[in-house]
This record gives sequence, C-alpha cells and structure tokens, in this order.
Amino acid sequence: PPRPPGAHADLLRRHRSVLPAWLALNYDQPIELTHGRGRHVWDAEGRRYLDFFGGILTTMTAHALPEVTRAVSEQVGRIAHTSTLYLSRPMVELAERIAQLSGIPDARVFFTTSGTEANDTALLLATAARGSQQVLAMRNSYHGRSFSTVGVTGNRDWSPTGASPLHTLFVHGGVRSRGPFAHLTDERFVEACVADLTDLLGQAHGRVAALIAEPIQGVGGFTSPPDGLYAAFREVLDRHGILWISDEVQTGWGRTGNHFWGWQAHAGSGPPDLLTFAKGIGNGMSVGGVVGRAEIMNCLDANSISTFGGSPVTMAAALANLGYLIDHDLQRNARRVGGLLIERLRAATAGLDLVREVRGRGLMIGVELVRPGSQEPHPRAASAVLEAAREGGLLIGKGGGHHGSVLRVAPPLTLTVAEADEGAAILEAALRATAATPSVRADAEGNHAS
Ligand code: PMP
Repeated sequence: PPRPPGAHADLLRRHRSVLPAWLALNYDQPIELTHGRGRHVWDAEGRRYLDFFGGILTTMTAHALPEVTRAVSEQVGRIAHTSTLYLSRPMVELAERIAQLSGIPDARVFFTTSGTEANDTALLLATAARGSQQVLAMRNSYHGRSFSTVGVTGNRDWSPTGASPLHTLFVHGGVRSRGPFAHLTDERFVEACVADLTDLLGQAHGRVAALIAEPIQGVGGFTSPPDGLYAAFREVLDRHGILWISDEVQTGWGRTGNHFWGWQAHAGSGPPDLLTFAKGIGNGMSVGGVVGRAEIMNCLDANSISTFGGSPVTMAAALANLGYLIDHDLQRNARRVGGLLIERLRAATAGLDLVREVRGRGLMIGVELVRPGSQEPHPRAASAVLEAAREGGLLIGKGGGHHGSVLRVAPPLTLTVAEADEGAAILEAALRATAATPSVRADAEGNHAS
C-alpha cells in the first residue's frame, strides 16, 4: 500500500530521538528495508536493490530461503524456547555438525546470540584457562562492542573507550599494504611483525593468555596478512603457551571460496584453540558461538547457563541454513562466482586512478579508494560511491579500515553469474561517476571542498 508522504522522514526523526547517537546508519537518507528474496531486498518506497552486503555478511545463503523459513516456523509452532537447562535436540545436532566441521580435534561448542558475545566468551575462557588478563590482538581489528571486545578492537573508529577489563598488547600484521612495514617484501614483512610480537612479549608482565585475530580483517577493510605470518606467529605463541583465537565471524562457512574457514588459508597456522562464529550461520537469526579444544572449553569452575544461546528456533534456522550450504556446495559457488566478480571488478577499474586495489577471496571482496595520483585514503569518495551504487540499485558496505575508504562486497553465497555481472556494472558506473565528480577531484588536489 502507498505510504503517506513524509513517512520516511518521520521514522528517521523518531529513530534519532530514541536511539543512541553512536548507532551508525549508512547513507545520507538511511534505507528502511521491508522484505527480501534471494539476492534482492526492497525498501519501504518499493525500490528494489541487488544486495551485495547481506546486512554485513549476515544473509549467508539467500533472503527468505524457504528451507530456513519452514524450519523456523515449524519450530516456533512447537516450542520457541527452552534455555540450556533442558536437553535440546537441535542444539546438540548443530553442535555436532560444527564440531566436526571446525577442524579442531575433540571440539566442544557453546552457542551465543552474537559475534560480540562469542568473542567475549572466548576471551573469558582463554583468560580463565591461562590465569591471566593479558592478551594480544591485531592492530586495526574489530571484535565487537561489549566492554571486553572493544578492549581488543584495534580499529580506533570502533573502540570508544580506553578502559578495558583486559590488558591488551596490539601487534602489527593484519594489514599488508599500509603501516610502517608496507614497503617490505612479504618475507621481511613477516620478520618485522614477528619481531614486533617478540618485543611485545618482552614488555608483557608475566603470562599472556591468548591472541585474538581475524583471518581477514572485516570491518578493517577486507585486508589479510601475507602467507606465512600467522604460521610464524603460531610458532612463537606455542612456545609461550599462548592460545590462538580465530575470529571467523566474517570469514567462516566457505565465504572465501577456497576454504571453509579463514584459518585454513594461513597454511601452517594449524587449527585454532578457539574459533568464534556468528553472522551468516543463522541467515538472519541470531546465532553465534565458540568452538574449541575440550580442555579450554571445559576450564570454567562455576556453573553457567544461557537463556537464549542455543534456542531451538535459532538452532533450527542454522541447521536448515548449514544443510542448504553444504548440499548445494555454496563454498564452490563462492569460489567460482566470486572469482569471476573479482576479475570483472579488476578489469572494470584498471584505468581508474581512484581505485588503488581490488582484493579478496571468494565472495569477500574489497575495493580500496585513494585520492587520485596518491596513496592517500579517500573516505569521501567511498561515501559518494556508496550513494551512487544505491541510486543504481545496488547495496554494498564501506570498511572502517583506512579511514573508511574501502568498499566491501559480500553478497549472499547463492549469487549467480548474471547477478555478479549486473552488480559489477552498477558498481563500475558508480565508481566512474564518482571519479568524474569535480568535488572528488578537487579533494584530491588538497582543496577540501565541503
Ligand atoms: N567479530 C567480527 C570479525 C565482526 O565483523 C563482528 C561484527 N561486525 C563482530 C565480531 C561482532 O559481531 P556482532 O555484531 O554479532 O556482535
């Protein structure tokens, strides 16, 4: 039905007057999404968009996937909630599947309702297991918005307080192409980062419990350390009895094409001690969790429960979603269609001085923008491309990494070749229009027009 004029402006005004100011909204005119199907979503004005972001990699397979819808509604109709005080068949079944897929021997699984809570739990387990509140994290990282997880979030834009229950040492290495070691060869880069890690361990007061790291930094701008870095880190950590926590909230479930988990792309780093997941597995339902070695997962001395973690409804969604992913080999689709999309975007942007790099693996693709003729990040251009792509009917994300100058492309894993082509054409047009905009070029020449 047609909406009364001013309905959008009214909702935005009410949003702003009742929700906290720091809750980030995309777009000059934020979008109200009302429904979705497959790789498409619709807004309240009836406009259709091709969705290349899935609400931040959260729609893993497809919007309104019938298998998930059916599983959820059947479960809601039977019993919606039990809490972890009772046996739950869907929770046990999903835990078994995830334990088996994790690559971690003798694994145990604990379910949460978000990535933040998954990382918070992993940090609780690691600090309890090692009897130390001292941890390592990567510079430029993002791990969540709770008190403990902002303390290991190296990305300053998303880390609102200097206070933390943890003492965190931040190590170089998550970003290959920026920072003090960017000019080095891969081999020297790895050596420099290992030396940084060793220095930090020298400065530590006593024991260090864990290192938490994303295999590919997500919010940080889809950047990945070079081959060999995490293997070299792991060797140092193992020598010191420091646990490895792999935050797979963005990189898990085959998204990167060649591997099911992000850690598998870092040959020699071995399975992590603890692996955290969230976002895509519930295909929109709030499922997160930690999977890890039994010895660490079982280390807590007191009882604990979770009221909503492992809820039969969200477990049913995740079981149906994971089943669909595996039955349809969507990891292979991510590799094939993602590979074509990367090629297509590289070819489309080859002559554009606004684009520094198109990078990524599978369906996790970053397009980094710079001020033409320089290596300076260009956040203003990234915002302009985001808006222009929306005008063209395409939703993408923007990375907080490198000052918000990285466009992020991470569509649902069922993306077709035709949709990849369509999205790439819209993105190319948005990039070309932005590159030709006088104010963007003026900005490049140091004339910071408002
Ligand atoms: N870890 C990573 C790598 C993430 O990208 C995010 C979310 N952007 C989180 C943790 C936090 O997840 P959530 O928003 O579900 O709490």
